[in-house]
Amino acid sequence: MPELPEVEITCMGLQPILQKSIKDVVVRNASLRWPIPTHLKKTLPNQKILAVKRRAKYILIQFENAYLMIHLGMSGRLELLKKNISPEKHDHVDIQFKNTKNILRYTDPRRFGSIHWIDKDINQHFLISKLGPEPLEKFFTDKYLFSKIQNKKTTIKNIIMDNHIVVGVGNIYASESLFKAKVMPSRMAKDVTLNECKKIVKYIKETLHKAIELGGSSLRDFYNVNGQSGYFQQTYVVYGRKGKPCRVCKSIIESKIIAQRSSFYCPKCQN
Ligand SMILES: [Zn+2]
Repeated sequence: MPELPEVEITCMGLQPILQKSIKDVVVRNASLRWPIPTHLKKTLPNQKILAVKRRAKYILIQFENAYLMIHLGMSGRLELLKKNISPEKHDHVDIQFKNTKNILRYTDPRRFGSIHWIDKDINQHFLISKLGPEPLEKFFTDKYLFSKIQNKKTTIKNIIMDNHIVVGVGNIYASESLFKAKVMPSRMAKDVTLNECKKIVKYIKETLHKAIELGGSSLRDFYNVNGQSGYFQQTYVVYGRKGKPCRVCKSIIESKIIAQRSSFYCPKCQN
């Protein structure tokens, strides 16, 4: 699944479309998680792209009075391609630009992604309004996290993967950050100390930054906008390493389901 770093990298890769005006849009299959609005065919042409931003895992393509909000779902990707490359089965949308040989193509085999048109206050949109802060921004601090775990009858892993508390900490990044912070993913959140929150926050930021730097990638078949595969997966310290020796103490890495997903941890290094 594309995680926050892949989405960030996708946004960076989309910078060549800034200031471009849209010529046309071709929707071959509108049935994504939510149907693609049928009015885009009329609404998009002649709109000029002013910015490409990210909020959580949503890509926000900004126009003068509206946004096109794209989510990559489980298997989606956006690619800038030469316009003569013929579409294949899962290539659902092409956006064509004026005065350029490139198109922006949305591909999504599992169709869990979405494309919304938002011409009102984006912060009030039902998919955005309840989201917690961005993990890489200043607002996400040890004190903030500590305030969110008081009296919580759930695990620390559930907390950091809860989008209402902080966005974009997916399963891989949760396992990696908790290992580095030496905190067991199954620990009850209310028992985690402020000092441990400090480490958790530090390593969430560090792990995400590192993944973005390395080109992202949680998923074997993730491609950035130039069709290159990311390679962050090669550097995991604990994720996906069940049965292998801990990189720190050589104990055998264990795994169990927490927050509905496999969690990997070292029984000796983490408490
Ligand atoms: Zn260990």
